[in-house]
Amino acid sequence: MKIIRYLTRAGQAQYASEQPGSSALIIEGDIFGEYHVTSRRAEVVKLLAPVVPAQLICIGLNYRRHAEETKAKIPDFPVVFFKNVAALQHPGEPIRIPTHLASHEVDFECELAVVIGKTCKNVSRARALEHVLGYTCGNDVSARDWQRQFGGGQWCRGKSFDTFAPLGPRLVTAGEIPHPNALRLATRVNDETLQDWSTSDMIFDVPTLIEFLSGSTTLPAGTVIFTGTPHGVGMARTPPRWLRPGDTVTVTIEAIGELTNPVMLEDA
Ligand code: ZN
Repeated sequence: MKIIRYLTRAGQAQYASEQPGSSALIIEGDIFGEYHVTSRRAEVVKLLAPVVPAQLICIGLNYRRHAEETKAKIPDFPVVFFKNVAALQHPGEPIRIPTHLASHEVDFECELAVVIGKTCKNVSRARALEHVLGYTCGNDVSARDWQRQFGGGQWCRGKSFDTFAPLGPRLVTAGEIPHPNALRLATRVNDETLQDWSTSDMIFDVPTLIEFLSGSTTLPAGTVIFTGTPHGVGMARTPPRWLRPGDTVTVTIEAIGELTNPVMLEDA
């Protein structure tokens, strides 16, 4: 099933199930618990990020060719960091380049986002995918100057500015994507494709990540895992390709769809 979250005419967030064609049917209940699809058509005023993450866990350096392009050594264990959940941004809404705590090196990262459906802990690799509600597209927007020079030696600062976590446009339930490590994913800026690769290049695949992240650690339902980005990021290009006001960034993942966001400056 393809699930969207949207604003109703009354200004409320609502879930719906996309149907063939362009219609969607209202979902009643809790998508993390009991729910059912009604026969009532959804009137989508505005599309929202498909979930409000309980937490946003990210994996760095998880694609072989991306690790190579950043001249980092292939990690022995997943490289884990957290991204501010308040950085969430909806499909179609702008990525805002920080001007107050100014950045001149804002970059894109297409990522397969895994949504945990059932609270879990100490999950085995073999049973990991049973805990996944579904998958969506994420963009791990990163201010490289704040990540590398001004972030105190860690990545949270540079990856947690407002609007730096676009997510969407839909959640595709796990049953429709039995092989999350066989998906093509890409980033296009304006008309130029800058990343175009496959989730099969992950160093730690989705089941391995869930086993590792849930080890001695509860993953609440609604946890979103950004699983890393392939090579081709703006930072690694010659010359670097930083996002600029007026750009449009589109993350595409096979079987999920396209997440598009314009780029603007932070309001003064
Ligand atoms: Zn990333």
